[in-house]
Amino acid sequence: MSDQDRHAPAPLIVSDMDGTLLDHHSYDYTAALPALRRLRSAGIPLVLNTSKTVPETALWHARLELDAPYVVENGAALLGADGALLQAWGRPRAELLAVLRDLRGRMGWRFESFDDLGVAGVQQHTGLSAEAARQALARGWSEPLRWLDGDDAIHEFKALLERHDLQLLRGGRFFHVQGRHDKATPLPALRAMLDRPLLVALGDGQNDAAMLAAADVAVRVRSPVHPLPDIGAHARVIDTASMGPAGWAEAIQQLFAQGLLRGGVDDE
Ligand SMILES: [Mg+2]
Repeated sequence: MSDQDRHAPAPLIVSDMDGTLLDHHSYDYTAALPALRRLRSAGIPLVLNTSKTVPETALWHARLELDAPYVVENGAALLGADGALLQAWGRPRAELLAVLRDLRGRMGWRFESFDDLGVAGVQQHTGLSAEAARQALARGWSEPLRWLDGDDAIHEFKALLERHDLQLLRGGRFFHVQGRHDKATPLPALRAMLDRPLLVALGDGQNDAAMLAAADVAVRVRSPVHPLPDIGAHARVIDTASMGPAGWAEAIQQLFAQGLLRGGVDDE
């Protein structure tokens, strides 16, 4: 090992899941496997940073055989590799539901949140199995909802949520009510905890933009359904040529080839 190698900052990988490490449509990740194995053999931690819930993410954490902490519900909380809650930045779901109940009562707006829908309703609107719907309902710090009222009312709804220090985000199928956190919120705690100064982040969507902007190396993974996220000016950006997990693997292998990531066995 050269002096330069010895003093190169130790890297940490933080990655979005849906559309990035997992295929947008099928959740397949076969194309990412060689790069995943290489990270593991190089001892480089891979931290999942997703909008998924704790049970949903824990399932993937086990399936991908990871041993790093992970971040759930858009930066709401950081969990250890063993699933223990380490730190939460999100507002507890019970508080969110109380605000929603109060607004519905006072304003008479029509909307259905996951709490209103229950397992059968979530299944009906997502196509998830009963077990997967239960995992999607096991939320700690955010509440998805279907807005059934007018476009004007939603602006007022958003403004009133902001008075409660909450934000309303537009997702694919649902709006999401949550506290003022995003996928970048847990990054300082992660850097300090793992003592890995070089942070490489990978993501495909606009909800990854803050995380990508805060990383030392930002990898924008191409998506079949939307443009690359806008992250503003950044010193070091990689835009993948391939989509989803193939793009994810392409970027990781490129970082090994450039010497930014080191070690491990390339079994591709
Ligand atoms: Mg994504």
